[in-house]
Amino acid sequence: MSLDLDTRQRAMLREMGVHVWLAQHQPALVQPGMDPVAVNQTGAAPVLPPVLAATPVPTSLPATEFFQPMVLTEEHWGALAHRVAQCQACTLCAARKHPTLSVEAPVQSDWFVLGDPPDEDEDRQARPFVEQPGVLLDNMLKAVGARRGGHGRQGAYVSNVVKCRPPSGRLPLAEEMAQCANHLHHEISMVQPRLILAVGRFATQLLLQDYPEAAGLPLGKLRSVVYRYRGIPVVVSYHPKVLLRASSDKAKAWADLCLCQDVLEGKVGSLQ
Ligand code: SF4
Repeated sequence: MSLDLDTRQRAMLREMGVHVWLAQHQPALVQPGMDPVAVNQTGAAPVLPPVLAATPVPTSLPATEFFQPMVLTEEHWGALAHRVAQCQACTLCAARKHPTLSVEAPVQSDWFVLGDPPDEDEDRQARPFVEQPGVLLDNMLKAVGARRGGHGRQGAYVSNVVKCRPPSGRLPLAEEMAQCANHLHHEISMVQPRLILAVGRFATQLLLQDYPEAAGLPLGKLRSVVYRYRGIPVVVSYHPKVLLRASSDKAKAWADLCLCQDVLEGKVGSLQ
């Protein structure tokens, strides 16, 4: 992504607490013989651990054939919203106030942001990414020209990896995330994203399930690489809640957004 930032983008970066001099970013360059979906942001070498770098991955971009595009109607969206509202498919339904779902009906959006399980505020408001973390995420998206409810390159759809808040703040179980992925897959089919930004440990755990060597690695070690979830490019970054606590990570989050831009612009991930 170019760093020729306009006034509005600079204002957004100030909102994020990112100083541009901290966030210098060189577009990743795909070199012959280099794994196109494992290029780091310097273009120098993949930063995947060796065992991950050996993982065979598809090379086409975008490759969303797993998720058949739907002719989206309000009826489909209403049906999904109803299904989520009534869902009792896992034990997480017992303690929730409300399951979360975007209030913006999905349209085709290039960006799909997947976050961790709902917190107390999200549980109460039945919506992903609310309050201060939601404001920060919105500002981050604005800095790259995207917004919730927008369409295509300007569009971002947001969701939680499970729709119901685990009781007493406990961690979600793998089987609960797998069960709730049924809803997620419907959302992806409706949105047809060209990229998924996984923010947080559990969103990352679900989306990187085809990379068993990634299991147990801290999130910081999984950044700067383009993975795939059923054909869709995935970039890993910090959850806005973490960024609010650790402002030094905001420059890294900006670099992650720049990597996303490179993917969407075809600078990374395409060899065909
Ligand atoms: S977490 Fe997902 S699968 Fe479990 S009850 Fe809630 S909506 Fe259903």
